[in-house]
Amino acid sequence: MLHMNLIDGQPRAGGEEIANINPSDTSDTLGLYAFAAAADAEAAVQAARAAQPGWWDAGPQARANVLDAVGSALIARKDEIGRMLSREEGKTLAEGIGETLRAGQIFKFFAGEAVRMSGDHLRSLRPGIDVDVGREPVGVVALITPWNFPISIPAWKTAPALAFGNAVILKPAELTPACAHLLGELITAAGAPPGIFNLLMGRGDLLGPALLDHPGVDAVSFTGSVATGRSVAQSAARSLKRLQLEMGGKNPCVVMDDADLDLAVEATANGAFVSTGQRCTASSRIIVQRGIYEQFTERLIARMQKYRVGNALAEETQIGPVVSDRQLQSNLSYVELAKKEGCEVIGGDRLSRDTDGFYQGPAVFLGATNRMRVSREEIFGPCAAILQVDDLDEAIAMANDTEFGLASSIMTSSLRSAQEFKRRSQVGMVNVNLPSAGVDYHVPFGGRKASSYGPREQGRTAVDFYTLWKTAYTFAG
Ligand code: ADP
Repeated sequence: MLHMNLIDGQPRAGGEEIANINPSDTSDTLGLYAFAAAADAEAAVQAARAAQPGWWDAGPQARANVLDAVGSALIARKDEIGRMLSREEGKTLAEGIGETLRAGQIFKFFAGEAVRMSGDHLRSLRPGIDVDVGREPVGVVALITPWNFPISIPAWKTAPALAFGNAVILKPAELTPACAHLLGELITAAGAPPGIFNLLMGRGDLLGPALLDHPGVDAVSFTGSVATGRSVAQSAARSLKRLQLEMGGKNPCVVMDDADLDLAVEATANGAFVSTGQRCTASSRIIVQRGIYEQFTERLIARMQKYRVGNALAEETQIGPVVSDRQLQSNLSYVELAKKEGCEVIGGDRLSRDTDGFYQGPAVFLGATNRMRVSREEIFGPCAAILQVDDLDEAIAMANDTEFGLASSIMTSSLRSAQEFKRRSQVGMVNVNLPSAGVDYHVPFGGRKASSYGPREQGRTAVDFYTLWKTAYTFAG
C-alpha cells in the first residue's frame, strides 16, 4: 500500500515512492511512502494559510478537544504504534511503546495549555486607557524533524503549535515517515479541520528549501544535525522567519571518586548505550576522577558487554540496531578513528544476527583525551570516550570544553560537588546522579552553544515560540 502525504485533509501522492525498511531486518519493509515534490510544498503552504485563521477563531476548547483526542488515541494504541515505531526506527519494543505513550501524554498536556493560554490586563500610564497584552498564533509553522524520536519529537512540536492556534506543515525525516503518517491519521480522525495539519514526507534538501524560502511560512522549528541547522538558520534569516533549532550534543557524564559505584555504572551505561546511543542527550564523554578510574572502567566494560544487542522486536533485546547502513558506516569509521587517535577500543564491532540488520556492539574508547576528534564530534552511536581527570575543577573545565551545551551529568555523593557542577555546567539540562539522557515533558527542553538556538521546547515555555505578543490600548472615550 502506498502511504500518501496529507495536504488540506486529502491524501496526495508525490514525486517518488520510497520503501520504508526495517533496520532490524532489511528484508522487511513497512510499505511504500510517497515522497513529496516542491509543488506539493506549495500546496501545503496554501492549505495551511487558508485554514489557520479559522482554527484560531474556533477557540481554546475546540483545539483542546482535538489534542486530547489525539493523546487518548496514542495512549490507547501505544502497543501497536510502539511496535510500528520499533520496526521503523529500530529502538526496542519497550522504548517504542514508551515513546508512543510519551507522545500521547504530550498531546494531553498541550490540550490543557490551549485552555490555560493567558495574557495581562493593565491600566495605561495615561488616564482612562486600558492595556491588554495577549498572545496570538505565529501563523503557519514548518516542523522539520529527525528520525531518532520519530513520534515524540513530531508530537512535542505539533501539539503546542496546534494548541496555540497555528497551522502545521510537518516534514519528518526520510527514514521514519510511518510514525509521522500515523500522526496525520490520528489528527484527522480527532476532527482537526482540513489544512490545519499537513504532512510532507520526503527529502530534506528538496522540501527544506521549498518551505524555508516560502513567504507563506512564518516560523520553522527544526531538530537535526548542526550542519543542517546552520543552513536552515541562514535560509530562515533571509526571509526573517521565526526560528527554533535543536541540534547535537557531546554530553559529559562526570564520575567522581565519591560516587556510588553501582549507580554510576548503571547511569553512565544507560546514558551512553541505551537507544543505541542515538539520543542527542546521550553521554558520549565519560569523565572519571583518577581514584575510581580503574575500578569504574572495569565495571562499566563488564556492564556494557552484558547488553543484549539484537532485533528490536525481540523481547530479550536491550539495544536495537543502528538506524541505517549509512549511520552504521559512520559509527564504524569513528571506531577506527578512535584507534588511530591512540585509544584502546573495547567493543564497537559490527555484529551479525539471525536477520540481516545494522547491528553494532557498544564501545568504549579508553585513554581518550578531550582534544581528540572522538571526544569533540557527535558520533550518534553506542560509543563513549572515557577521559581521566584529577579533581572537580578539571572535570568541570573538561565538561565545558566543547562546542555543544545540551545536557550533562555528575555522579557524586558530595552535595558540594553536585552544587558546584550544577552552577558551572554550561548546558541547558544538568543531572545529578542520573544519566545525561532522560527528560520530562512539562519542563523546558533545550541547550546552549551549538546545541540549540531560539526559545526552548516543551513545558510551559513552548508557548514562547508558537505565539506572538500583541499589546492593545483601548480608550473608551
Ligand atoms: P541526520 O544527519 O541525522 O539525518 P539532518 O540534520 O540531516 O540529520 O536531518 C534532520 C531533518 O532535516 C530531516 O528531516 C532532514 O530531511 C531535514 N533536512 C535535511 N537537509 C535539509 C535542508 N537542507 N533544509 C531543511 N531540512 C533539511
